[in-house]
Amino acid sequence: MGINISVIRSGSSGNCTALWTKNECVLIDCGHVRVSELEYELNQLGISCNNIRGIIVTHAHSDHIDTNGLKFALAYGIKVYIHPENYEIVYSNNQRVIKQLEANMQIAFHRLAPFKIGVYRIEPFRVKHPKHNPGYPLGFALSVKRVEGNVKFGYMTDLKEVTPEILEKLAGVSALIIETNYDQTVIDNGYGQHGWDAHLSNQRAARAVCDLSCASSPSQLRYVFLAHVSDRNNTHEDAWDCVTRVLHLRGVEGIELVRTHRYKRSRVITVQA
Ligand SMILES: [Zn+2]
Repeated sequence: MGINISVIRSGSSGNCTALWTKNECVLIDCGHVRVSELEYELNQLGISCNNIRGIIVTHAHSDHIDTNGLKFALAYGIKVYIHPENYEIVYSNNQRVIKQLEANMQIAFHRLAPFKIGVYRIEPFRVKHPKHNPGYPLGFALSVKRVEGNVKFGYMTDLKEVTPEILEKLAGVSALIIETNYDQTVIDNGYGQHGWDAHLSNQRAARAVCDLSCASSPSQLRYVFLAHVSDRNNTHEDAWDCVTRVLHLRGVEGIELVRTHRYKRSRVITVQA
């Protein structure tokens, strides 16, 4: 049986990604997406809100978790899995709804140790995201055990660089959601606008994809979602072209790129064990 992924929203205007099997779904981030909008998208994907087992949170910026996402969790009795340092900031910005979630035991703390939500094993890893009050920024390696073998996914947006330690955590992923935030040529030409230096460039993302793909033989990596594309310092076309070019130059084959969007969901990718 396959595991499905769709990036429902991606970018500074809102972030939410769904990972789901027939009966169990987890959401990664849930910020700046209205409850009705999210219900609509999940319905279109065939996901029952009652099958959502948890929301995991990368960091405290409101485009990743805000009142909308917290209200959605409250409405459906979904637990929010969060690092204590992210919680501090989210709490101060959303006290009323957080207090209700707390009263319902819907806040679950985690640190860097792996934890489980239903069939999903989640391993957080630290990323650098030097931007105003981010809390404790994280990426995630998520895996599901199947009789046929393990299926593994990687998620990282809002990070300045991909370190060897991060690549190690992501070894063996079949699908990767990675930020292609800005294009280095925009910066080199002096047109870079505020905020790019807390994010990952097309060029760095492309190199990380190549490194991951080349690290195992045969490579497991089949799908790469190009996420969190800046509307000031990048275009979707430039992100796509840059990653395609670098993969080609490095002789990396067999990877399908998937586009993500600000205001609509990506296509669904199904990964088989
Ligand atoms: Zn951020």
